[in-house]
Order: sequence, then structure tokens, then C-alpha cells
Amino acid sequence: MKSGQGTWRSSKHRRGTIRKAHNVKTVHSFTYFYLVYDAAMSLEYPFEQAPPFGRTVEVAPGVYWLQMPLPMSLAAINLYLLDGNDGWTLVDTGIRGAETRDLWLQTFEQELGGKPINQVICTHLHPDHTGQAGFVCEHWRAPLMMSYSEYYQARMIGSMISAGSSWQMEQHFTRAGFPPDFMETMREGRRNFLPQPEDHPLPPAFIRLRAGDELPIGENSWRILVGTGHSPEHVCLYSEQLRVLISGDQILPVITSNVSVHPTEPFSNPMVGWLESHERFKQLLPDDILVLPAHNLPFYGVQERLQQLIDHHEDRMLLLEESCIEPQVAADLLPRLFARKLEGHSRFMALGECLAHLHCLISRNRIERFLDGEVFRYRSIDPTLAERARPNAHEAPDDEPKMV
Ligand SMILES: [Zn+2]
Repeated sequence: MKSGQGTWRSSKHRRGTIRKAHNVKTVHSFTYFYLVYDAAMSLEYPFEQAPPFGRTVEVAPGVYWLQMPLPMSLAAINLYLLDGNDGWTLVDTGIRGAETRDLWLQTFEQELGGKPINQVICTHLHPDHTGQAGFVCEHWRAPLMMSYSEYYQARMIGSMISAGSSWQMEQHFTRAGFPPDFMETMREGRRNFLPQPEDHPLPPAFIRLRAGDELPIGENSWRILVGTGHSPEHVCLYSEQLRVLISGDQILPVITSNVSVHPTEPFSNPMVGWLESHERFKQLLPDDILVLPAHNLPFYGVQERLQQLIDHHEDRMLLLEESCIEPQVAADLLPRLFARKLEGHSRFMALGECLAHLHCLISRNRIERFLDGEVFRYRSIDPTLAERARPNAHEAPDDEPKMV
């Protein structure tokens, strides 16, 4: 493990004196979990680049950052090692497969200073976060720590992804204006996310994390904050002493986390939970903390970023209201949200996002949904829309969404 060597910055170096990254050209990466988004950013990035795969760098006292590769357009996930007195706490584990597993073996050898990993936390169920949890926990005989919903859904995800079609799936896609066998057509593209026989399965037992728990690790205490919307019970770790938040996918600086209605729960309303989480985090978190996200670079400016994300989704929802003055089918709304042509898995994720925004609007009584033959149509019903509409002032994500 490298010592600090000036790589982390004490509080006097924080916000205001670090290189400012104004108007960063945002990466429009439509990944398995994330949606495109363009925004004029003025967040501050204290580290210009990530350490090479398999190496660590100290980003706050006792907090080490490492990256592992992803076989996707989004090239890497950030993982964090927290220095305890007699071992390390690992936060998130990387995606399944030999490449990351070999990098872990190298990391164990070179970066841990002779101490074991003695607990493993996964912020949420997604395969880039949980993919190596079985391997790492088995290697070190370390317990896995997760929230309840995330653990059980992680255990289910393989069968959920590989499930064949059903009348429920067919009905979901048909109602959205998609071909009923749509799920089948992208099976191959989802293979990366499926556990394979050679993988270590998720550990058969876990320690439950709950909102408000305090985890002592070394000299520091980390409070568990829980958000929802991107996944059901997403864990973040906040150290008030260190002024550090490990945010997982709940807060990302450049891309926006995917908030989707999935065919397994076709009437869910994840956007309401997502927006509520952001409002709550705005109340909870001071603005001078360093945010350690699961993708992109660590940053300062959490209050601004939370507001940007809220504004982004509100903008998308207003755009949908304006688009539904004449009743619309979900499939026909995707070109309004995404300028470029969508295929396969990107189209699937775009539909999930579109429905998440529509369902939130339904719960606000701004859109109504009705069955027209076999399809659902969505119609704007709020009388104040004419005053609120600003049809020429929407964000215009125009890069090709990438499936990763
Ligand atoms: Zn995720």
C-alpha cells in the first residue's frame, strides 16, 4: 500500500483551492446502469487520474482508492479499501471474470501491507459491485456486509436475467410498444452480467447493514446512509471526521445513474424514491466533503451535484409532459429523450428510464395512463403545463448511448 505521499489533501486544501473543472465535456455513456446526461459542471476533481488497475492511492487518511476494469463502454469501477487496525474493509468488489480476479490476487500481494481483508461491503447488488464478492470473501474468510434488499436481490439476479419469456414480460413490452419477445433478443448482450459456473457464488451468509448504523473502522466511524431509486436499498458510507462520503452509484459526478422500471416490477415508481433520496442527502451532507463515487473521479461539490441530478430528472419529466399532449406510447417517446437511434440493451434501458419518469408523473397527477387496445398510452393532464412548458430549453443528450 502506498503511503499518502501528499496524495490526499487536508481540509485546508479543500473546495476552492483545487483545480476547478468547469464545463467538463460530459461523457454520454449509456451503460448497463447509467443514463446519458449533459450538464455544465463546476465540480472540483482533486485527482486528475485514477491509479492503474491493481494499484492503490490514498485519497483520505486511511482511505485507499483502486480501480478494476469493466468490459463495457464505461471502462472502470472505483473500489475503496479502508484501513482498520488489524485488516482492511473493502467497499465493492468489481465485475465477475478472470481479469478482475487476477488483479485482485496481485492487489492482495502488493497493496495490502501484509494485512488481511477482514470485511467486504457491497454498496448494492449490481454485478460490477458484487461480481467478486464471493471470491474475495472466500479468499480471506471475510464476512460480506450488505443491506437486506440488496443481498437478496443480488442472489436472485442471475435467475432474473436468464429467465425466459413469460406472459408478464410479453405484456410489459407489448404495452410499451415493443415487440413481445424483446427480452429474448438481447440475451447475448446481458451475458457479461450473469454469474458463470467458474465464478464463486455470492457468499451464502451476510451481515445486514441498516440506515443509521455506525461502523467503526480503524480510528474512524462510518455511518450507513441508504438511498433508493437506482437499486432498492443502496448503501453509502459517510465519515464525518474524515469529511468523506463513499457514494457507490447513488451520486456520480459525470454520468447519471440509471433509474429504471424493470419488467419484473412493471408498475414500480423508482423515480420518486430517487428524488426523495437526493433531497434527503442534501439535508444530511455538508458541502465540503470529498465524494468517492463508484465511477468517474472523486469530487467536491456534493450539494451542487445533487441539485443538478434533481434538475436533470425534472427537465426530463417536463419534456415528457410536453410530448404527451397527444397521447403517446412509451416506445415513441424514446426519440424525445434520446436523440440517437437506440438498439438492443440500450433501448431496453432507455425504456426503463422513460417509464420511471412517466410513473413519477402519474403519481404527481400530471400524466394519465390508459389502455388502448394492447398498448398503454400516456396523456398530459395538468392544466398548468402551458405555463411551465419550455419546449426549446431542454437538455439534449445526443451522443450514442452505449451498452456496457
Ligand atoms: Zn449500480
